[in-house]
Amino acid sequence: MAQYEITHSCGCNQTHKLFGPHAERERKIAWMESFPCSTCERARRLEIASSQEAEMSLPALTGSDKQIAWARALRSEWISESVWIADRLSHREKADLLEKLLEYRTQVLTEKVAAGWWIDGRRESVYPGTTIFGDHWTVLEEFDRGVLPKALK
Ligand SMILES: [Zn+2]
Repeated sequence: MAQYEITHSCGCNQTHKLFGPHAERERKIAWMESFPCSTCERARRLEIASSQEAEMSLPALTGSDKQIAWARALRSEWISESVWIADRLSHREKADLLEKLLEYRTQVLTEKVAAGWWIDGRRESVYPGTTIFGDHWTVLEEFDRGVLPKALK
């Protein structure tokens, strides 16, 4: 293991601990340099979250300040993915699935106001190192495959 000072795409330097063979570390460094640092990424995500919250009149989340900030970012990520999938469904003329997706999204966004629900159900690709896949992510993936999710049948 070694520590590396990495200059991210936002211009910030951050120290990261990297493991594994040398060539692999070099690849990882190049990959990490192409992304903003975690602080800028979080700020960017919270900005997107704020505009989604205003636009969609989303309910405030409940929990500690730290939990709420984290959960707002996760909810925002989930919304962005659902918007992307909705676009694909309408493109493929899957009107029935699109309608179900929008219904499901409204239900989740209205009912799931506990920050802990979003944090417990986060998925690996959003925050590396976590392995919990929330059902709400699985449902989105099924919509993306063009099938009515099992959970909604
Ligand atoms: Zn930065």
